[in-house]
Amino acid sequence: MTVRISSTTDTVDTRRDSVSVIRTIDGFHQDELGDWVVELSCLHSQHMRHQPPFRDRAWVLTAAGRAEHVGTTIDCPLCDRGEIPAGLAVVRTIGPFDDATLPAGLRRDHRVAGGVWALLRVLDGAVRFTMATDPPVDRALAAGDTQTIPPDVLHSVRPRGPARVTIDFMTRVNG
Ligand SMILES: [Zn+2]
Repeated sequence: MTVRISSTTDTVDTRRDSVSVIRTIDGFHQDELGDWVVELSCLHSQHMRHQPPFRDRAWVLTAAGRAEHVGTTIDCPLCDRGEIPAGLAVVRTIGPFDDATLPAGLRRDHRVAGGVWALLRVLDGAVRFTMATDPPVDRALAAGDTQTIPPDVLHSVRPRGPARVTIDFMTRVNG
């Protein structure tokens, strides 16, 4: 049985170990229907609709309102789900690494650079993959499995015995 000790203040967020991926608004564009879409630092897009009384976002309808929100942050559930944004191309692949050659930096908690997505591919064997999304990911990956990794999110790759992996790095290539 788990005993929960109540906190001395009521402002402590007990869910702190499970926090959504937060992204910066880089800009806005309109979709084909004229609805506003935010462009996020993770390369995802999210609709930002003004739908009173449910969503009161009259600011999105004015250039000044949109400009004020550039640089602010919002949750990105698409990052939590590891959905690769549209229009990315593989720009670099590292590996294959085996359980002896996998760099130590990849086994520890680390992040992919901002604006870059990664795709871990397990070629042989098995690895344990953890990632600080909401909910957190803790997966045993086997040969043939893949795992998407959003930019700037802590994760680790630990071989469980003999294993071989490659990692593709993807970003948006203009033109
Ligand atoms: Zn995102």
